[in-house]
Amino acid sequence: MTTSGAKWVYSFGRGAAEGQAEMRNLLGGKGAGLAEMSNLGLPVPPGFTITTEVCTHFYAHDKSHPPELEAQVADALSAVERAIGAKFGDPTKPLLVSVRSGGRASMPGMMDTVLNLGLNDRTVEGLAHNSGDERFAYDSYRRFLQMYGQVVLGIEHHHFEELIENHKIEIGAVLDTELGAEDWQALVAGFKEVVLAETEKPFPQDVHEQLWGAIAAVFGSWMNARAVTYRRLHNIPADWGTAVNVQAMVFGNMGEDCATGVAFTRNPSTGANEFYGEYLVNAQGEDVVAGIRTPQHLTVAGKAASRATLPAMEEVMPAVFAELLKVRRILEDQYRDMQDIEFTVERGKLWMLQTRTGKRTAQAALKIAVSLVGEGVIERNEAIRRIEPNSLDQLLHRMLDPAAKTTVMAHGLPASPGAASGKVVFSADEAESAASRGESVILVRIETSPEDIHGMHAAKGILTTRGGMTSHAAVVARGMGRPCVSGAGDLRIDYAAGTMAVRNHLVRVGDLITVNGSTGEVLLGEVPTIEPQLSGDFATLMGWADALRKLRVRANAETPADARAARNFGAEGIGLSRTEHMFFEADRIGAMREMIMADQERGRRTALAKLLPMQRADFAEIFRIMRGLPVTIRLLDPPLHEFLPKTDAEFQELAQLSGKSVLEVRQRTHALYEANPMLGHRGCRLGITYPEIYEMQAVAIFEAAATVMKETGAAVEPEIMMPLIATRRELDILKELVDRVAGEVKGRTGVEVPYQVGTMIELPRAALLAGEIAQSASFFSFGTNDLTQTVYGISRDDSASFSGAYQRLGVFENDPFVTLDTAGVGEMIRIAAERGRAARPGLKLGICGEHGGDPASIHFCREVGLDYVSCSPYRVPIARLAAAQAELAGESGETTA
Ligand code: PEP
Ligand code: MG
Repeated sequence: MTTSGAKWVYSFGRGAAEGQAEMRNLLGGKGAGLAEMSNLGLPVPPGFTITTEVCTHFYAHDKSHPPELEAQVADALSAVERAIGAKFGDPTKPLLVSVRSGGRASMPGMMDTVLNLGLNDRTVEGLAHNSGDERFAYDSYRRFLQMYGQVVLGIEHHHFEELIENHKIEIGAVLDTELGAEDWQALVAGFKEVVLAETEKPFPQDVHEQLWGAIAAVFGSWMNARAVTYRRLHNIPADWGTAVNVQAMVFGNMGEDCATGVAFTRNPSTGANEFYGEYLVNAQGEDVVAGIRTPQHLTVAGKAASRATLPAMEEVMPAVFAELLKVRRILEDQYRDMQDIEFTVERGKLWMLQTRTGKRTAQAALKIAVSLVGEGVIERNEAIRRIEPNSLDQLLHRMLDPAAKTTVMAHGLPASPGAASGKVVFSADEAESAASRGESVILVRIETSPEDIHGMHAAKGILTTRGGMTSHAAVVARGMGRPCVSGAGDLRIDYAAGTMAVRNHLVRVGDLITVNGSTGEVLLGEVPTIEPQLSGDFATLMGWADALRKLRVRANAETPADARAARNFGAEGIGLSRTEHMFFEADRIGAMREMIMADQERGRRTALAKLLPMQRADFAEIFRIMRGLPVTIRLLDPPLHEFLPKTDAEFQELAQLSGKSVLEVRQRTHALYEANPMLGHRGCRLGITYPEIYEMQAVAIFEAAATVMKETGAAVEPEIMMPLIATRRELDILKELVDRVAGEVKGRTGVEVPYQVGTMIELPRAALLAGEIAQSASFFSFGTNDLTQTVYGISRDDSASFSGAYQRLGVFENDPFVTLDTAGVGEMIRIAAERGRAARPGLKLGICGEHGGDPASIHFCREVGLDYVSCSPYRVPIARLAAAQAELAGESGETTA
């Protein structure tokens, strides 16, 4: 590649710039912001940006710069010298610069910065003379030595800190402010010795050598371990690279008429349209961040709100404050969004150092977006686009009080959002009995199984050390709206001892812990939580989203509580009611086990007769709650092993219940044992081999529907869904059974219940043979949990052990059980949708795997023409918003693949 003629450097400052806001990819966020502020005529210290393309070149060419770069930097530097009226390296009037990184996406604190560059033994004298402040000059020099030593020369921070501490002890000082010019001068000498000792070279006095060292260090920091990890966590591609910004220094630490500060153009935590920020008099930027001194409020209102006593900038520097208010207006008008700004005041003059779109809480994001529409600044569609759907989660659950102090003991997966505190219990029964005494508990298990349901329900939160995002604990907890951290693999649980331990922490049964299911953190003790706030802005924005989207949103729900929650959150029906979950409750699991244990149809029918009234009552309640909306009920699906007894006590209990000996129960359990239960006797295979089970369920559905139709006079139209269908013949056998039961119930009740029979598509064979299967199905619902498992050949219960490594190595772009693998699993869906609709035009299509609540997957669902997505109740608002965004993206021609 020839690079001649390429432009690598863009100048800015003095009311003009070569770059602009739109050049973010090339100039990085900071560089683009500085250019734009210059263009807007705001006071920006002059400087230049070395583009992200130089970073890419740097890594592609053995860490070397393009040959033209030196000349371009020299030209840009001369322009800065002219603008400032000072010269780089000049002993009488030295130009000093800052060198900062700035990528396309903000990566706070991940990369390096060097300030006061250009100081050496001679220029420091010039600085002292010009500023009339020797202390300031030597303090600046030592700061530079320290930063340069760390960032460019790789010397550990403590070498410098120790010298400062020792010096303070020697002279009897406590604070840095007590050190005078001679002290800093002595420390400068000491720091230079440190550099010599650590690098075996003297500190570079040549300012150009300093500059190129700092530029290389900033490019180098793009690949430091911190930055690499941050990019992985935030999906930032390594080839974006960082830009380097070189800018004339301005000083906020030259006296009492100097200051430095940060501000948000609106309140970043509430979104209120109020100026919000902090400053420090006589300080340099890092003093604000370092937390050594307490920053003061910018505004009198902010000071009053936090009951602070130190004066606000509005009071002590009214002229500068007024100018800052103007800047706030100009930046908001230009960017049409809340900005996060940094500034310095040097001898009463305001200088802008940064502007970027400000980070905000979900609540603030909603308020700002809705307000900006009200102010006529942005359109509704833009407001919809600006809200990250997953962030709504923060609003729907109790969350940790951001002001609380916390100690994190371990990390797991953020399996179900929200935060909860309680006493540790290690079994579901303990959870239930403690809860019945009014205690709050966190159920801690290595993993959970269906028989823990009652304990999960009783617990305020759930913690497991094994299992991924679609593990039993995760799925059930999300459905119930219980906060859950799953797969916290560092924790060692000892059920017998009643302890859970990690490195230096030991927690015993009864001790208080807190789980934060939104972040995956496990915290020691009780951490205060605050209520979710579904403000008016939430409802307003969701209303706009609903008006826009075409994809319907249903919920996965089986209990009345879930169905109610789903409706409250705006679900337009139930897309999956997993009937097996109804059997996990303590009063039902016995009859369920009895049914499974029976080796004869007669025994099964006896047990099923006990379950029928409970199931019928559940369905009736759900039909009532979801009145007027579609309800899809899936017949029994789970691998039978989930219901089998495991402990001696359970064997005995079951023996008693079923009138068998313990030995017989054990033998039957053994006979039912399967090597691969997920691929075993489950799904429709149960209904086909034990038709009495599905028959009972169909009776319960039709009788419940008939009852509710009589009660309300309105039609209830259940959609009966078969799980794990692989062939049309399976579906035909079961459809015949359902049709027969429908007729029988009609005969008995005199009510004709309208209904549909459809199938889940969760096996590759079903997807491929969709054309054939569609001839017998009124609808398809993609069960992408199983479909991912079967297309990928990966166990949905056990993938956590390698999924992390696979993501790190780039084998998986995302966990395929969380975000749909559009290339593979998605291709199956595409095929099934096309073939199904070709055979039966208008075939209703939905998705009810966990992906139905994942925004990226929802975009794909819209693209392939599904009619609806179905997800856990607490994800319904997220799905509503994501569906609207998918519509907007679709209109502008974006695709997911
Ligand atoms: C699925 O497989 O995607 C599904 C919804 O069913 P379940 O998770 O109950 O197997
Ligand atoms: Mg399934």
